[in-house]
Amino acid sequence: MEIDEMTAPKTPIKSLLLEEIETHLIALGQRKYRAQQVVQWLYQKRVKAFAEMSDLPAALREQLDAGFAFDVLQPIRKTGSRDTTQKFLWQLVDRSLIESVLIPASPALYGEASDRRTICVSTQVGCAYGCKFCASGLDGFSRNLHAGEIVDQILRVEELSGEKINNIVFMGMGEPLANFDNLLRALQIINAHWGIGIGARHITVSTSGLAPRIRELADQPLQIRLAISLHGATDEVREQIMPVNRKYNLAALLDACAYWQARKKQRLTFEYILIHGVNDTPEQAHALAVHAKRLEAKVNLIPYNKVEGLPWERPPIPRQNAFLHILKTAGVVATIRREKGHDIDAACGQLRLQTQRELQAV
Ligand code: SAH
Ligand code: SF4
Repeated sequence: MEIDEMTAPKTPIKSLLLEEIETHLIALGQRKYRAQQVVQWLYQKRVKAFAEMSDLPAALREQLDAGFAFDVLQPIRKTGSRDTTQKFLWQLVDRSLIESVLIPASPALYGEASDRRTICVSTQVGCAYGCKFCASGLDGFSRNLHAGEIVDQILRVEELSGEKINNIVFMGMGEPLANFDNLLRALQIINAHWGIGIGARHITVSTSGLAPRIRELADQPLQIRLAISLHGATDEVREQIMPVNRKYNLAALLDACAYWQARKKQRLTFEYILIHGVNDTPEQAHALAVHAKRLEAKVNLIPYNKVEGLPWERPPIPRQNAFLHILKTAGVVATIRREKGHDIDAACGQLRLQTQRELQAV
């Protein structure tokens, strides 16, 4: 990480890879093994300040404090309880708000033996892509999260919930592939044995379809999973709700998906929100089936979660089932995600939106 010593803010320590911390420590005249101690304090013992790293010499702790930022996300609001989806609203050092969601093990979704505890993390403050149905993009884009702010969502949710997270989805606020370098850093720290240590196969990155970035991610060695927010099976329908489709149309997106699949030899997922009267017709289901079969992709149907102030609704259940039926009849692996209630399981971005509106109303 290159910084201009005079003007740049301090580098966040949780944005750095082990080898980078080693390089910094050597530059400070320290022995390389000290970096191992630092990452142990960060990711195993999980302290909140350099001063707590008690087996480091006091002088080194002071040097670290002077050279690096040790930001910790501040919890502002939390909804939900242990057995339901919990949402955490965080304030960052610049007072921006982001959110993370903790989804408990759900035997109904994943089978009785499942102990999957999933965190949904944000990658940006707001989102520039402006999908018409999404709360995250309503107030536009403010800034990218740095890797440490992505990593810290996991550390803080584990701390405040008492749960050990074993599955991560990049489906919170923001477009992960538009914050590519910080995403790659965060992925490495989350995956590393010296870091949080979560297996790459338990990490899913979701994108609205930045085709060139999908190819770049496919060239990375990490065996993470990829989910594509498709939400429309023809350019005509997709374009109405996802402006990104004008930049990378379906043909470009699906070609990038084919490249991913060829490189990774791994099934990708199409996410498809069902929005009443917009993308839930039998024609769209048939077109979606063709794409899914071409790429051997799995389809995740998600009945739309109402966003206050937006006109969209989820289709009635029989219509949802009819859509699913068409996919299954065509031989596509497809599931429908049924939530326990709109309020608790609502998609990311909504708690922040609600809080900002309440603050504006005061
Ligand atoms: N920007 C990335 C990741 C964040 S969005 C992307 O678009 O993939 C994560 C998922 O939530 C996407 O599939 C998105 O389309 C979906 N989503 C957004 N708003 C929603 C809503 N109101 N109801 C259901 N899903 C929603
Ligand atoms: Fe951004 Fe994803 Fe929401 Fe679209 S769906 S506005 S890309 S966060």
